[in-house]
Amino acid sequence: MRDFTLNSYRHLLLAFQQANYTFLRYEDYCRIKQSGDALPEWFVILRHDVDLKPNNSLATARIEAELGIKAVYYFRAVPESWDEKIINEIASLGHEIGYHYESLTTCNGDVEAAYQDFVENIKKLRQLVLVETICMHGSPRSPFDSKDIWKKYDYKELSIIGEPYLDTDFSQLFYITDTGRRWDGYKVSVRDKIPQYQEEWTLKGWTYHGTQDVINAIKENRLPHRVMMTTHPQRWNELGVQWMKELMMQNLKNVVKRAMMRNCM
Ligand SMILES: [Zn+2]
Repeated sequence: MRDFTLNSYRHLLLAFQQANYTFLRYEDYCRIKQSGDALPEWFVILRHDVDLKPNNSLATARIEAELGIKAVYYFRAVPESWDEKIINEIASLGHEIGYHYESLTTCNGDVEAAYQDFVENIKKLRQLVLVETICMHGSPRSPFDSKDIWKKYDYKELSIIGEPYLDTDFSQLFYITDTGRRWDGYKVSVRDKIPQYQEEWTLKGWTYHGTQDVINAIKENRLPHRVMMTTHPQRWNELGVQWMKELMMQNLKNVVKRAMMRNCM
């Protein structure tokens, strides 16, 4: 099976379903946690960061909806992500919509301006759909970490109930992401990782490379029972020219990132 195709994504979802994982949107997770109720024993939060190509997100959202699965989609306030028709359509399929903010980067590190930018963008998104959670966009080339806005301001005052990097108990929940077009790209990732737990997870053998490795782990009961899985739908395509382009670009990016990291050490 070719990897990072919509077909391999569908197989991944089917494996989770067959293993009886419950699918929680991030707002569901936050609400259960805050109520003090018990979380399901087995669950997966399918998080999608819509960095680019919103049409690809519509494709994964439709596959999930066909299977009766709900996920969360975080949209950036930039033209290459923000597509109002698609935002509305994904919401109408039952998925959660959240704001993928990068305000500290777009405002060059000015925290006050970044907060204003954040407030304006979330207001615009809320004119379209209900928004209860937000998620930082990692901006690998930026020196700024947009989560730093929250050292001064409090998003909970804006009726936002959660931010995955700040409100998730990663001591109880395994994190896996397709950054680098692989499932073990945490070594090359700048911000999309959970450094405080990654070493422990690696020691436990919870590392997977291709999607088939993840599927095998689910089938053989080797994947943890509580998971947040982040995918970037722009990496997932029907087998064809786009798929080939994405593969070549990612290989090139991985080479550059490795060279950059060597220089930093
Ligand atoms: Zn992102």
